Amino acid sequence: MIILVVEDEKKIASFIKRALEMEKYTVELAYTGEEALEKAEINDYDLIILDVMLPGSDGFTVCEKLRKMKINSPLIMLTAKTQVSERIKGLDSGADDYLTKPFSIDELLARIRSLLRRGKKAVTPKLKISDLTLDPKSHEVNRGKNELRLTAKEYKILDFLMRREGEVCTRSMIGEHVWGYNFNSLSNVIDAHISNLRRKVDGKNKIQLIETVRGGGYKIRNPKFQIPNSKKYVKSRH
Ligand code: CA
Repeated sequence: MIILVVEDEKKIASFIKRALEMEKYTVELAYTGEEALEKAEINDYDLIILDVMLPGSDGFTVCEKLRKMKINSPLIMLTAKTQVSERIKGLDSGADDYLTKPFSIDELLARIRSLLRRGKKAVTPKLKISDLTLDPKSHEVNRGKNELRLTAKEYKILDFLMRREGEVCTRSMIGEHVWGYNFNSLSNVIDAHISNLRRKVDGKNKIQLIETVRGGGYKIRNPKFQIPNSKKYVKSRH
């Protein structure tokens, strides 16, 4: 069981870490929301403990972003605020539970156990387009029966495209997501990665999934499920 603890106050963070490690949990720490988002994107945590008061993005914002990124790990929010409105805000942003500081470590452990029992039922769904599947849990990517060996960057690009099936993903979107910044000079690097990715994913396959959008960027879609354009549609019906 791997738990991510997001808390900028290092003393509190390491106190929680030690307590959890005594219960045989593996713990990783993040000191800012941004760091938490990065880590959660790469790793699949069984649970996230997120402090509301963080420098930069606060806990509510981070929680919302995590859920938007389809990271559905059970999440406990730590809040210093006891107002009902703050608690509701926490739950609305996608937290599963909250604890008001100061809290007892025993209570935190009890909440963790309860969430982990519930969380086990939730499965991270595999992404699937045509016969291409990507498993966010194991990072396994398959086209038909073939397992594809992708580099870390290729995996991240493919994951990004698959989660946006049918949408045009510009080079700057891909750059920001995969490299964390967006420079014009990155365009060639992205193109080179896509070209390798395409060779591995599509190769000589009859159904080519990765498309270049002229002047726009890239998109991935299942050509079998294209909505017929209106003319053809009309023709076929009459
Ligand atoms: Ca804090």
